[in-house]
Amino acid sequence: MRPAPAPPADKPIKLSRKGPAKVFSAVPTKEKIVFITIDDGAEKDPKFVEMARELRVPFSMFLMDDAVRTNYGYFKPLQALGNHIQNHTLNHPVMRSLGPEGQKRQICGDQSILERQYATKPFLFRPPYGAYNLATQEAAAACGIHGIALWHESMQIHDMQYDDPAKKLHPGDIVLAHFRGPKELKGSTMTQMFAAMLKKIHKQGFAVARLEDYVRPPA
Ligand SMILES: [Zn+2]
Repeated sequence: MRPAPAPPADKPIKLSRKGPAKVFSAVPTKEKIVFITIDDGAEKDPKFVEMARELRVPFSMFLMDDAVRTNYGYFKPLQALGNHIQNHTLNHPVMRSLGPEGQKRQICGDQSILERQYATKPFLFRPPYGAYNLATQEAAAACGIHGIALWHESMQIHDMQYDDPAKKLHPGDIVLAHFRGPKELKGSTMTQMFAAMLKKIHKQGFAVARLEDYVRPPA
């Protein structure tokens, strides 16, 4: 496995408390690195924890309360490996369909549960389906989150979907995956999906870096 370069002393994405949350789907860098993000939290496969322990591949977890509440504890060993927990709403609505107050409830609600359960302060938000508007950016900022992380690639069961029609990764791309199991993956397991994703990343000569090493929350 290709090791990621040391993280930069000066983080290229700097979040600010001023104005609506900043939206990005890649990190400006020349290094051949990508960032793995894993969403929702429905599947809680113990084999994936083992895999994460063995491989030490960094990823960020965007947890949605409805999916994780049956077992908050599952994500703690993953967090203990250094993987950050970030915000993904209470119950996965299309944010644009809600008014400003409804959006705030979704983000601030998930935020306070995640803070309590994981003793961390998430500083990134991911809107379900990548759908957002200005009210989403303002709601995130009001909940103390100043960055909204989207993606350029999305991992399916065996295949990766690319924004680039040439089907290529680019330096600094954010890759989306999900905590999904055989029920959602037509019989495949979370570890099979993850292994297939790593294979695609490494085949293109990329290493996996930690998103939070490249994004600076406001001081
Ligand atoms: Zn989601």
